[in-house]
Amino acid sequence: MTIPDQSFQLHHTTPQPMAISSSGLRFTLSTGQEILDGISGGAAVNCLGNGNSELVKTMNEQAEKMAFTYHQSLGNEESEKLAKLLCEKSGNEMKAAAFLNSGSEAMEAAIKLAREYWVEKGQPLKNHIISRFPSYHGNTLGVLGIGNIPSRRTVYEPLFSPNIHHVASPQYERFGLPDESEEAYSQRLADELESTILKIGHENIIGFVAEPIVGAALGVMPPPKRYLPLISKVLKKYDLLLIMDEVMCGSGRSGELFAYQSISTKTDGEEGEKVVPDILAMAKGLGSGYVCISAVLTGQRVTDRIRKSGGWKNSHTYQNHPVNCAVARKVMEIIERDDLLTNVKQRGEQLLNELRELTKDISIVFDIRGKGLFVGIELNGSSSLEPRLAARVKGRCFENGLLVMAMSGTIDGIEGECIILGPAYVVTEEEISEIVRLLVMSIKEVAEEFEEEY
Ligand code: PMP
Repeated sequence: MTIPDQSFQLHHTTPQPMAISSSGLRFTLSTGQEILDGISGGAAVNCLGNGNSELVKTMNEQAEKMAFTYHQSLGNEESEKLAKLLCEKSGNEMKAAAFLNSGSEAMEAAIKLAREYWVEKGQPLKNHIISRFPSYHGNTLGVLGIGNIPSRRTVYEPLFSPNIHHVASPQYERFGLPDESEEAYSQRLADELESTILKIGHENIIGFVAEPIVGAALGVMPPPKRYLPLISKVLKKYDLLLIMDEVMCGSGRSGELFAYQSISTKTDGEEGEKVVPDILAMAKGLGSGYVCISAVLTGQRVTDRIRKSGGWKNSHTYQNHPVNCAVARKVMEIIERDDLLTNVKQRGEQLLNELRELTKDISIVFDIRGKGLFVGIELNGSSSLEPRLAARVKGRCFENGLLVMAMSGTIDGIEGECIILGPAYVVTEEEISEIVRLLVMSIKEVAEEFEEEY
């Protein structure tokens, strides 16, 4: 197939390279070029890779048995089974679930549930949300206003609620002070949260929104030591809800099914406090890209309150779609049966180690970090460079046969140039080494050009 001269799609002014077939971690393009997938379809989605015949079979069988029921008219057992499974897998920390179709929808649902919780509790004045900068929580109007990526939101700004407040998202490597420990830095951010709460008045606040492991703002960032427990302590002090966005980092990508459970709260041998969200959103890996499914899960107090008021009124036509739910349950079954979370942890370690070793002498590499198969390579860029550095590396990787994700931007003075890797959970040892080889080669090529330009 040849690439058409003109694209009829809204997104692109020039025709995109087109993938025409796929298998495992490889895509074949219309040009005949083969691309190794370092980021699960481009956006950390298809965690079981391409061409999984079990998922295709499940999809077909469920579609034949019963393709659709509108959840307000007829329940279906697939959504019931998936909700039960997710709650069990959370160690029963989550008590109920609803299924939607995208990460944005799940985050919209999370915010709506949080607001409903307080209204049902007789506290309708609570209508302010605190989130972080930089952050991204989806592209629909509600949650676009909660995150703050200028390139995605500026044009729509007049439409957003003024009741959104931002505190700093942690990035110790860049913003920790010279003599400040990780814990002291986390405490400083928790103090900032507390003073923001005091300014707004806790009686006006719904809760705090955060990704447990940042992926969608300016690159992959696991939190610094004790950040989540310290933040959670402040939220508990003022009785505010904790809303976690695991759209990207969840569904096993961190090495645990739930990313919030992958973050150790232990410090210096001490057992730290457990942090459990009140509301949790999942998407991406949940359906492995075979179906468009996301989930919103609720902890004890939100579940109890919503049930007391007669159950959640939210309704989208395709909510709790039986085919989506059947496939997501199969994804979960395969992850468990094939012990893929162990592979995520082992291959993730290998990825970090090989990258750190082979980029030691590349001056434009600032930091490499991650958790499980979710890894960010932060570059020392320059905002005056056009195209920006991460975008250049991504382009060079593509020419060299590797698909990665690039995040470039400057948000409130924070510069970000990051390459994100998030291969499928079925990735092999050899494929990890190939991903590293292609990426390091591409970074080196771009670094040489960059040094010539500056
Ligand atoms: N939250 C996070 C953390 C995300 O990474 C994304 C997608 N990049 C979203 C929300 C929105 O998900 P979707 O694109 O499926 O609507």
